[in-house]
Amino acid sequence: MIKRFTADYIYLIDEHPLKNGVVSIDANGRIIDISTRLQGNETYVDGIICPGFINVHCHTELSFAKDKIEPNLGIDSFIYQLEVLKKKISLDAKNQAVIKALEEMLNNGIVAVGDIMNTDLSINAKRESNLLFYNFIEVFGSQYKDAENIWYSALSLFDKADKPKNIVPHAPYSLSRTLFQKLRDFNKSSDIISMHHLESKGEIEYFESGSGPIADRMKKWGLSIPAHIPTSQRPLKSISEFIVNNDNILLIHNSFADNQDVEFAKETFNNTYYGLCPKANLFIEKVLPPIDMLMNSGVNICLGTDSLASNNSLSIFDEMKTIDKAFKIPLEELIAWATINGAKALNLDLDLGSISIGKKPGLIAITNLDKTDYHRLANATFSVLR
Ligand SMILES: [Zn+2]
Repeated sequence: MIKRFTADYIYLIDEHPLKNGVVSIDANGRIIDISTRLQGNETYVDGIICPGFINVHCHTELSFAKDKIEPNLGIDSFIYQLEVLKKKISLDAKNQAVIKALEEMLNNGIVAVGDIMNTDLSINAKRESNLLFYNFIEVFGSQYKDAENIWYSALSLFDKADKPKNIVPHAPYSLSRTLFQKLRDFNKSSDIISMHHLESKGEIEYFESGSGPIADRMKKWGLSIPAHIPTSQRPLKSISEFIVNNDNILLIHNSFADNQDVEFAKETFNNTYYGLCPKANLFIEKVLPPIDMLMNSGVNICLGTDSLASNNSLSIFDEMKTIDKAFKIPLEELIAWATINGAKALNLDLDLGSISIGKKPGLIAITNLDKTDYHRLANATFSVLR
């Protein structure tokens, strides 16, 4: 059965918003027609229609930690609290939490997720879900002697996970150079690298002077500071020689990124995407990423929720509201971050991310937009059109 929807504006994304547009989908949700011809059988949306949202960064396997971690205590406390919880919560409860998280994302209009995996916990739930995933098998380990074992485990998880998938670094500071070399040898141009980047200020101090909270944490855990530290350079530059094969690099968080990081990435990588998770940044470090600077630099911004360990919802719309409250971003641009940019970052834009004939992007109605206030999402609501 064909369904037809009309709205004040349809945000096509690849083209300018279509005033009083009509979009028609078939029974599978595939777009078969876009026009301004009303037939009288359309469902009317008092607001706008946009494509389904893309969540470029989540750890669905950490969903068990929802509402169990005390916020605003910084990254050290966050890691400690999470490790304690991991041991305390049963496998069954963890599995149930993943299933619930995937349902929450579907209900929140999310159609695809870049999901970080350290275990096989989320595999079955994801197989049953209508969401699409890019599976990022994450490795970390700062000690040279552990690299072989870590790599072996990562390969075995990689074999179990569904496509599309890749093995990726956790963050510039948390891998030995031996482990980074294995990643470089493994990666191909079509594989996407996703990596946490400058989530905390300590990363900069660690690379530039070999001191600060990361160095302190390693000492506390009895780990030796690798010989290449300090590099006297920014974190991204310090490890860029290991990221030479991939077309798409997805940098997550970027809370403490500055102009020199952005310029360096522009010169060095083919396509860099900045995946922002503002609610998680507020939750852990009480900061927001430098969105003004990123916008002025003209880079590709996309959005993620991070996990329920550091967020009380898995909703890209909530992330958009958080950004809208703090920055003046044109709505059309903010929606592009939440849709097409994420789809491109995950190489899923063939079907997702924009309203275009032949695509199957999912459709979202956004209503209660304030037509006079710049921060127009403040009271806005959304629903998934089915
Ligand atoms: Zn993360």
